[in-house]
Formats: sequence, C-alpha cells, structure tokens
Amino acid sequence: MITIFSGGTGTPKLIQGFKNICDNFSIVVNTGEDLWMNDLYISPDVDTVLYTLSDLINEDVWYGVRDDTFYTHELLKKYGIDEFLRIGDRDRALKMHKSYLLKKGYKLSEIVEIERKLFNIKQKVYPMTDDRVETKILANIDGKIDLLKFHDFWIKRKGDVDVIDVIYENSIYAKPLDKAIEDIKKSKAVIIGPSNPITSISPILSVGYDEILKNKKVLAVSPFIGDSPVSGPAGKLMKAKGYESNAIGVYEVYKEFLDILVIDNKDKELKNYIECEVYTTNILMKSLEDKIRLAKEIFEIL
Ligand code: GDP
Repeated sequence: MITIFSGGTGTPKLIQGFKNICDNFSIVVNTGEDLWMNDLYISPDVDTVLYTLSDLINEDVWYGVRDDTFYTHELLKKYGIDEFLRIGDRDRALKMHKSYLLKKGYKLSEIVEIERKLFNIKQKVYPMTDDRVETKILANIDGKIDLLKFHDFWIKRKGDVDVIDVIYENSIYAKPLDKAIEDIKKSKAVIIGPSNPITSISPILSVGYDEILKNKKVLAVSPFIGDSPVSGPAGKLMKAKGYESNAIGVYEVYKEFLDILVIDNKDKELKNYIECEVYTTNILMKSLEDKIRLAKEIFEIL
C-alpha cells in the first residue's frame, strides 16, 4: 500500500490517476483551510478528496459537486445572509452533515470515516488531525500588518496583498491521526502530491508527520513548471517563506525527508541543484490519460 498527502487541487488530479490503477492507498488531507461559515463547517480539501474518489467532483474548479444547483445559496442572499463561499445544494448537505455531527461531539476523522462509507469509497481518507489548525497569512496591507485567515487572503482579497509569512496556528499543540500514522508505517512509500507546499502540505507536516516521514521512502511531485505553479498562489507563498518559486524550492521545503522528486521535462536543468534522486517527465495533468500515465510512472519509480 501507499499513503498520499493531499491538498485540494493538484494532488486530487493525481489521485484520479491512482484510483484507475489500484485501490490500496490511503490519503492524509490538509485541514488548515477548514472554517466555520455561519453555522456550516467547511473542510474544503477533505470534501474535494471525497468527491474526487466518488467521481462527483466539479473538475472546473476542483471544489464542490459537478452540476450542482445553488438555490439555497441564492435564497439565503435574498434573506440577507451573504455567504462569501458559494456552496451548492448537494455540497451543502455534506457540509451540514459534518457540522451536525461535530456539534454532537464526533471527531472530524470519525465523521469523514462515515462519509467515506456513505460514498462507497474503498480508500481510507484521513483529515490530518482532529485538532483545529488554521493556516494564516501575515500580510502587509497598505502599510498595516494583519494576520489573515486563508480565505480572507485567497477568496476575499484574491491573494492581492504583500505576504510576509505563513503560519500554522495551533500546530504545536495538534496531533497527527493515529490511524494515519499506522497506515504510513504499513506503506511501501509516502507520496506527496503536486499540492501547494506552503498551504497544503506544510500544514500536514506541521502537526508531526515530518518526523514520521524521516523513516519512510518519500516521493514528491512538483507543483511547479519553470518558475510558476500550474495554478494558485504557491509562487508568492514560497517566496514569502524564503524559498525559490520552482522545483528547487519544493526540494528545499521537503529535503529533511525527501528521497525522490518528480519534476517536469522542461525543468531538466534544475536537476543539478537538487540533492535527492530526481525523475523528469510530463507532470502537467490535463486529461485522465495524463493522470493515469503519471500515476503508473510513479509506481514504476517506486
Ligand atoms: P488547494 O488546496 O486548492 O490549494 O490545492 P493543492 O494545494 O492540492 O493544489 C494546488 C497546487 O496544484 C498548485 O500549486 C498547482 O501548481 C498544482 N497543480 C495543479 N494542477 C497541476 C498539474 O496538472 N500538475 C502539477 N504538477 N501540479 C498541478
């Protein structure tokens, strides 16, 4: 078996590839972007992974359910409750399920396990922790220093602020999930998917998984091609953390435990600056064929 660390866009694409060639893998998912919006608990990356594994995901935005309707969201707006995240009706049911059970005292991992079974998902899906860890962006906004919640930074302000640092609030008190650790121990290797190293993977590492990975074979796929991420704010956030915005920077983030880095053919010349095993291939996943091919190549490398 293998264990995959995931955020909510790049790695889910690769998960679609793995899903087509094997069942025996577990996924540890970032919860650093989880939030309560009004009375609704939103675990964006966990839900994206659940929808990806059950073939319901809206691949246009890698968020929510494909062909969903938005009647409730629009009605709430009419009633004066303007949700800053647009939640679809079917997607809302899953979020209400989480909110209801959390309020009854269930742990997030217990709820996700119920949902995994409801969706007939064979693979194990683990939120990185049952504790609350929040990724926050320390930003300079017109000369004023502010600590922004991730969604304030990315959704409300469209990432258009000077980023000074990124912190994982409460991570030193949070614990990794025992069941995820057991699966990592049983795994032949851990795969860090092509997710944002700063806001998707580092929050997972920050609760203690980094120590566990030191004793495992770890392969990571770069989310960068050249100096730019395939999508999203990873470049800006890498620079704020003092890393290069490219595959070398990805290596630097993971170097304490990384054995193999998969980078794009176009980045071949960066190989000389990376001090672990490097494998070059096409890492852009547009079609299902791309995803399956990359997943198969990763199996072959391992
Ligand atoms: P988030 O939770 O929505 O931020 O999603 P992730 O962190 O899982 O994914 C965002 C990262 O995925 C970005 O840094 C992208 O560069 C990367 N990404 C998206 N599509 C691809 C792809 O096709 N190939 C690779 N290698 N990376 C991708």
